[in-house]
Order: sequence, then structure tokens, then C-alpha cells
Amino acid sequence: MSAKALAKRGIVYAVARLAPLTWRWRKPGSLVVLMYHRVLPQDSPLRKTEQPGMYVSPETLDLHLAELKRHFELVHLDDWLRRAQRGETLPKLACAITFDDGWRDNYDFALPVLIKHQAPATIFLVSSYIGTAQRFWPNRLMTLVHAEFERPGSVPFPAPLRALVDPVLAQGRAQGRLDTEAIDPVVQQAMRLKEAEIRALMDAVGNDGADPAERETLDRQEIAHLAATGLVRFGSHSATHFRLAAGTAEEVLTAEIAQSQVDLAQICRQPIDLFCYPNGVTCASAVTIASHHYLGAVSTDKGWYAPGRDPYRIPRVAVHEDISRTPDAFLARLSGWL
Ligand SMILES: [Zn+2]
Repeated sequence: MSAKALAKRGIVYAVARLAPLTWRWRKPGSLVVLMYHRVLPQDSPLRKTEQPGMYVSPETLDLHLAELKRHFELVHLDDWLRRAQRGETLPKLACAITFDDGWRDNYDFALPVLIKHQAPATIFLVSSYIGTAQRFWPNRLMTLVHAEFERPGSVPFPAPLRALVDPVLAQGRAQGRLDTEAIDPVVQQAMRLKEAEIRALMDAVGNDGADPAERETLDRQEIAHLAATGLVRFGSHSATHFRLAAGTAEEVLTAEIAQSQVDLAQICRQPIDLFCYPNGVTCASAVTIASHHYLGAVSTDKGWYAPGRDPYRIPRVAVHEDISRTPDAFLARLSGWL
């Protein structure tokens, strides 16, 4: 192990010991909201078309929940917000678990772990994706990059995407292989384009060759089973995962924020009281509409939450496999210090 890696391990160890001590001195009513996306076993082929920052393994989720129960009271986010709103006594240290996007793997691999620990969680669903084989554009893009690597010239990338993809392909060819980690920057750079632009570019490429039978998001039956456990509740993650940047048309904001709530309440047969901004992107108008329809809304801003702060910009702590697969790494991440 290099000196740098050793030093880093030492810092993680120290923070993992120190941070929980400081939590005891936090004001009562502190809340940490964890942001998960997918739960994929180590050998899952789905990892090939997923960004490393998007998943944990079932074993890592199990480790997290065991660790969380030692320090926090696990709560449903909507319950906690209601209690805070009414001025009721809150747990001294609470943690709410959230999963974004409504992945099918949440049913297959997260649910057994949630049941084992009797841990409550909120899953943020994209209303138009439920029960369909639609794929999010980052996954489609990664599939296409793999396809172009396997069969050069097979994917008609429009010029703006070609400019992002070619350097990664050239690097992959030089090395004789293309790692998922190497494709990640393509998605991150494409994320800088406006939502309407990236959608038009992806539509221009056409089909990504994925099997439509391989549905990756939840369907109604799985949602019903998740709800029946009493552990899982649902929130809205918009109608189409449209990033709600400043300048987004009013009718788009209404469809994505307000109409998705109506549709999801009907699909999930439960009130939908929480909203989650796609990719954490929001604007003043989106926050205003969310505040007219929901009890609260979560962002991707990093940090803890406390009563009295804006409930329509609730920060979270993002967790994924690479940075949280040991108890020390997880506690250090929770601290928000690193
Ligand atoms: Zn999302």
C-alpha cells in the first residue's frame, strides 16, 4: 500500500471514531437523509451499463443498516417532517433512507435487506417509467458506447456526442478494453448539456439495442408488494426525470411536479407527499410548485438537515459502493467531513 493510501486509511479511521462522538453534541432533532440509487450484486451484468456512483451491493447495504441502527433512529422521512411541522418532539438523531429512480433491483435486492433490519425507506419513482422497458439516457448512452467499442462504426452518434465518445473509445482501443469507469466521464460531460438537448441527441441515435424485455424499473405489482411490507413508501421523482433547471417552461414544471403526484398516488394507492428533484437540479419556480403540492422535497446538496430549515431543499448524503463498503468508510461518509 502506498504512503498516500495509508494516510487516507488513517484519516478515514480517525473520522469514523471521532464523528459519532460529535453527533452526541448535535442539537436534538438532527436528521441525516441518505441517498441511494441501485442495489446490484457484484456479479450483476447491469453494472456494465451503470455509473459506479449509482449502486451498492446488497452486502454493503446490510452493513450500512447494521451500522446506522447503532447510532440513529431510522424514520420515514414524511413522518419525521410531519412531526417537525407540528413542533412535536423528534428523535435526537434520526436517519431517513431514500432510493432514487425506482429501480427494479430495489425490489429484488434492497427489500430483503430492509425487511431483515425492519428499516423504513422512501423510493422516489418516475411516474412514466413504471412497468415499462424505458431506460434512462445515461444507461442508454453507456450501452451505445460499449456497442461502438465492440463494432466500430455501428452507432450513428451525432457530432456533439461523437466528440465526447471518441477520446474514450480511442483510449479503450489503446488499452484493449473499455472499463465502465472509463465511460463514466462521457455521461458526466453529457450531463452538462440541457435536458432537451441531450434528449434530442439520444433520440437521433435511435435504439440502443437493449432487450425491451429486460425491464430495469419497478412495475405496479412490485410497487404493491413493497408497499404491503409497511416499510416502503413512495415519493415522486417527476414524470420523465426531466432536470428542472431555471428557464424550464411552466407547463413542463407542472407536468413533472404536480401531475406526477396525481398519477403516482393512483398507481401506488397511497398519498405521495415527497418530491425529489431529478439529478438534484431545481429552480425557484420548481421549488414554489413543489411547495404547493408536497410536504417536502429532497435535493442532492450534501449535508444534514434540522427543523426550521427549508423543507423544499432537504440536503442528503449520497452513498455508493466505492466509498462506503467498510463500516469506517461509511461512518466517515456520513460525517460529511470528507
Ligand atoms: Zn434520478
